[in-house]
Amino acid sequence: MAQVFVSDHPLIRHKVTLLRSVETGPKKFRELIREVAILLAYEATADLGVKEIPVQTPMAGANGYELTDKIGLVPILRAGLGMVEGIWEMMPTAEVWHIGLYRDHQTLEPVQYYNKLPVHPTVQVCLILDPMLATGGSAVATVDILKHWGAQRIKFVGIIGAPEGVERLTQAHPDVDIYLAAIDDHLTPEPSAPGDPPEGYIVPGLGDAGDRQFGTG
Ligand code: URA
Repeated sequence: MAQVFVSDHPLIRHKVTLLRSVETGPKKFRELIREVAILLAYEATADLGVKEIPVQTPMAGANGYELTDKIGLVPILRAGLGMVEGIWEMMPTAEVWHIGLYRDHQTLEPVQYYNKLPVHPTVQVCLILDPMLATGGSAVATVDILKHWGAQRIKFVGIIGAPEGVERLTQAHPDVDIYLAAIDDHLTPEPSAPGDPPEGYIVPGLGDAGDRQFGTG
C-alpha cells in the first residue's frame, strides 16, 4: 500500500505558511516553492541506493558512497516547474522529463499536451513534481504515462494535497509513495453563483500555484 508522508518539519511548516499567505508576491513565492521542494525531496530520496567507493582525503584513504540509482525529475507543467531547479542542484546528474497536462474545465480530467519521453526508460527512480495534489487526476495520469514508459519506481512529491487527491492516487497506484507538506481540508465544489471560485481548488490551499509563481493570476 502507498505510504503518505506529511512532513511536520518546522522549516517546512514555516515556509508553507508564507506560501499560503495572500501577501506573498511571485518572487518570494517562487523561492519558497524551490526551498520546500528541496526539503521534501530530501525525505523522498532517503531510500536511494548507494554503493561503497574508496575516497582519498588530504589525510588518508576513507570509505565513501556513490548513488547507484539514476533519478528522473518529472515536473507536471506548468506549476511543477518551480520545484525542479532546487532539487536538480542537489542531484545534478538527474534527468528532467517534462509532462504537460491541462485540466479540462468541464470534466476536470487531465489532457496530455506535452510528453517527450524516449521509447525506453532511462532512469531507475522517478520523482513526479507538482505542488498541488488536488483531484489527483494529473498525478494518476502521469503515473500511468511513466508506468507505460517502463518506470519501475515512482514517487510523488507535492506540497499541498487534498484528501480527495491523496485517496485517488493511492487507490489507483498503491505502489507510489506520496510526499507532502500538508493535507488540507477539501476541494471547492462546482460554482453555484457568479464570483464563486472555480471547481477543484484546494481549501484553504494557496490559490493557483502556477499563477502565483508566474505572476499570471
Ligand atoms: N491547482 C492549483 O494551483 N491550486 C489548487 O488549489 C488546485 C489545483
